[in-house]
Amino acid sequence: MKAARFYDRNDIRIEDIPTPEVQPGEVLVKVAWCGICGTDLHEYLDGPIFCPKHGHPHPISGEDSPVTLGHEFSGIVEALGEGISDLEVGDHVVVEPYIIADSVDVGPDSKTYHLSKNMNFIGLAGRGGGLSEKVSVKRRWVHKISKDLPLDEAALIEPLSVGYHAVERAGEIKDGDFALVTGAGPIGLLTSAVLKAKGAKVIISELSSLRRQKALDSGVADYAFSPAEVDVLAEIHKLTNDKGVDVAFECTSVQPALDLILDALKPTGKAVIVSIWGKPASLDVQKVVLKELDIRGTIAYVNSHPETIKLVESGKINLKPFITGRIPLEDLIDKGFDTLINHNETAVKILVTTDPQLLP
Ligand SMILES: [Zn+2]
Repeated sequence: MKAARFYDRNDIRIEDIPTPEVQPGEVLVKVAWCGICGTDLHEYLDGPIFCPKHGHPHPISGEDSPVTLGHEFSGIVEALGEGISDLEVGDHVVVEPYIIADSVDVGPDSKTYHLSKNMNFIGLAGRGGGLSEKVSVKRRWVHKISKDLPLDEAALIEPLSVGYHAVERAGEIKDGDFALVTGAGPIGLLTSAVLKAKGAKVIISELSSLRRQKALDSGVADYAFSPAEVDVLAEIHKLTNDKGVDVAFECTSVQPALDLILDALKPTGKAVIVSIWGKPASLDVQKVVLKELDIRGTIAYVNSHPETIKLVESGKINLKPFITGRIPLEDLIDKGFDTLINHNETAVKILVTTDPQLLP
């Protein structure tokens, strides 16, 4: 079967590899759509980061590069391994793409399995990936979805779960709460979508006018300001009667956004840092002290998929506006990666398929 495989920085190849055989306890998924993630771009431009270097196998998967890429995917169950009776061939599914040690509690009450030692992802550190025709996944990580939900939108459930968990980290969101989101890239937009679904009023701070427009047009933001053109803090004070926002989500990894959040939060407000920071940032600790702010981190998701799927199936979140491209696997680098690296203001999520019948 065809698969996109990461060899090394700037070296991703579309190759023919053996089709995986379903093992006991696994589900063979025929991939419909797989999104390209910022993490994939980082592996390509600056990697290997999550991908295990050639000759250095990942401690849990036991695999090293080349590895198949793709961790944001939807598909159809093609075969069931021994011992699986709660799914049927033909079911539509999405995958929570974790590689986690067998000794870790991954049960429905766990709040920490995503923080376990050597945690990594299917589609980055081995066990196949969504940028291929088929992938065999342990039953635990397969989530059934309604056949009414289009499979292209379903491919965005994985990044939406990142937003869902980020919002969960802020604690309860009450109807009418003001939320500031800095950055309207894919994760900023999807975090905003979850906030809107929970009844918050969303204020976005974003430099790119195209991204601000997308946030407003898709309905996930009530207000979108450019920090280069207006005094965002003054606008926030106007909107909140000088109170400040209840919660804030940092989705840019730039210092001015972090500074804005500390100023924009109301006393006892909560900041959630969603973006990945390549280097240390500075934090005006006195503002944290004097306003009794909470600064919290968030990474990926933990038991977040079932609730995220409900938000989409119930129609509270419409993922369609965030699909900005559909390409065959052969065009992954030329049309997919290149667009996201060089034209990332108009592109949100580009979906990839190996099935020509799904393409327009
Ligand atoms: Zn991702």
